[in-house]
Amino acid sequence: MTDTPTSDPIAERLHAVEARVAAAIERRGPGPDVRLIGVSKRQPLAKLIAAHTAGLRDFGENYAQELRDKQHDWPGLLPASWHYIGAIQSNKLKYLVAKTAMIHTVDRRELISAIDRRAHEAGCVQDILFEVAIAGEAQKAGAPIDALPELLEACAWTEHGAVRCRGLMIIPPAGDAEQTRQWFRALRELRDRLRDELCPRLPRERVSLGELSMGMSADFEVAIEEGATMIRVGTAIFGSR
Ligand SMILES: *Cc1c(COP(=O)(O)O)cnc(C)c1O
Repeated sequence: MTDTPTSDPIAERLHAVEARVAAAIERRGPGPDVRLIGVSKRQPLAKLIAAHTAGLRDFGENYAQELRDKQHDWPGLLPASWHYIGAIQSNKLKYLVAKTAMIHTVDRRELISAIDRRAHEAGCVQDILFEVAIAGEAQKAGAPIDALPELLEACAWTEHGAVRCRGLMIIPPAGDAEQTRQWFRALRELRDRLRDELCPRLPRERVSLGELSMGMSADFEVAIEEGATMIRVGTAIFGSR
């Protein structure tokens, strides 16, 4: 038996993803920073801690109670940002508001006032993204494109001013990376249009559309080429679930 240290597979995979992110940014050229969010749903805490040791700081979770449990068990001294990327049930908002750096999946109006109220009670401002059904009716989650002006207006003028929209998010329909490129590009173009036509009338501290959350293990490089600022990568870092 030798005791040659074996390097941790999570560290290896994380560093491989980081190298691919850097190469994609290089291909894209000058543009926004890209934040790598490790999607850790249904992964045990030990794997998250291994990824943290290897340098990961942003974690994405899909289930409110799982998020709560992981935050509860998380070693308090390790700095980390939590992102909520799952479907939102109003009765679970208490696990999300003031507990996450960003809620990526807001897609309907009643959530805005509920988040505003809870964030105000907690004495903070909650950052959110609007999830968009970019491919239309075929998609179950996400706001219709037509609804976005109204949602952004609602976000701009909440009762307490305790919610802030930072951008848009998509989960595109299944397809290979090149088929998916059209949806990433469509989201960027939609964002550019809203930013030009609507945002000048809205208070910047309530609505700004700098963030595009798009791209997963199978297609994050294409998403970066098309302007992603946050990519959500699960299996490529943590292995299969
Ligand atoms: C699970 C999930 C991901 C990560 O998917 P991988 O294919 O494992 O990278 C990203 N975004 C959302 C919304 C998810 O639910």
